[in-house]
Amino acid sequence: MPKHPLSVTNRRNSESFNRLLNEKLTTSESIGAVNMSSTEFPAIPYPWLQSEWQRLMDQMAAQKLPHALMFSGQKGIGKRQLAQALAQYVLCLSPSLQSQLPCGHCKSCELNRVNSHPDFTIIEPEETGKAIKIDQIRALSDYLSKTSQQGGYKVVIIEPAEAMNTNAANALLKSLEEPSGDTLLILISHISSGVMATIRSRCQLRLLAAPHTEQAMQWLQPLVADNNAKDLLRFARGAPLAALELASGDALEKRLKLMQGFEAIISGMQSPLDIAKQWMSYESLEVVEWVLGLSHRLVCYQAHSQAAVVDELSPVLQGFVTRVSPQYLYRFIDKVFVLKQQLLSGANPNKQLLLEELLMDWGLLAKQANKVNMS
Ligand SMILES: [Zn+2]
Repeated sequence: MPKHPLSVTNRRNSESFNRLLNEKLTTSESIGAVNMSSTEFPAIPYPWLQSEWQRLMDQMAAQKLPHALMFSGQKGIGKRQLAQALAQYVLCLSPSLQSQLPCGHCKSCELNRVNSHPDFTIIEPEETGKAIKIDQIRALSDYLSKTSQQGGYKVVIIEPAEAMNTNAANALLKSLEEPSGDTLLILISHISSGVMATIRSRCQLRLLAAPHTEQAMQWLQPLVADNNAKDLLRFARGAPLAALELASGDALEKRLKLMQGFEAIISGMQSPLDIAKQWMSYESLEVVEWVLGLSHRLVCYQAHSQAAVVDELSPVLQGFVTRVSPQYLYRFIDKVFVLKQQLLSGANPNKQLLLEELLMDWGLLAKQANKVNMS
């Protein structure tokens, strides 16, 4: 079992502190994917993840923290913050068991405060939405094979784990099978089914859920304009951080416009081709993701007809969803999935054709639903 860095007694002077900083920068370059952006210190897990945090603390106290953890759950619920809190706690040379916080003044904490701990690395795609490359994982394996500079743990966060292609994932397997020294690998996944089974099975999996609406609202409301917190949360499918992100810029406005476009087609106010023209300024993938999100809510509504879900839909959509045949709705979703796969595979389909096809399919659904209404 890894021993806790509390056992480390040698303190370094400021000269070696600077040396460590320099070494850290060199290491970062060689790995090429260390997150040098600022991180909160100390990182505090979000309130809805407190029970998960407690579980990690208990494992830590019992010296039963595994070498590899996978935090899996919807995007925007605070998985990264939880991982960072754990990393900072594990790396601290004298963490407080009572407050469950890093001490804030040991060498490790000083290094973490300036995002320069030599034994802490974050691996993520070099460009958003791109893959984590095998070279990054190879560099990581080299890094892990060396002993830690502070004499305690070495902590690595990999996010998102599903961004590792097969080669990169295979390269990581060795590090997962034969962890060197006191290593803690934290994989973060937004879609755990996208992570190779051989990787998943070698990690202790933590399925993290979005908070209940009430708890999410309690956190979100003070941070955004009161009147739209509920809308934001609804569009973010309950993920509070995703909802907060929507609050900045024109994201919410955009969602409302997309929703209005769908409603205009249902009520016959505008044609699918008109709406396709209006949507040309949006990213294709963004539109497809949004349509899938909405379709998902419609299916949930049909399956459960719960009051909570009814509240989330506008009267036009409520009317539509009670009339449309589930079979047609599923067929529509299948087609949207195909469009999404085309976009993700880099096929780069013509945007206008893609939007027109998607919206004409929606138009057919609306026609089918309206027919039910007439009969
Ligand atoms: Zn400390």
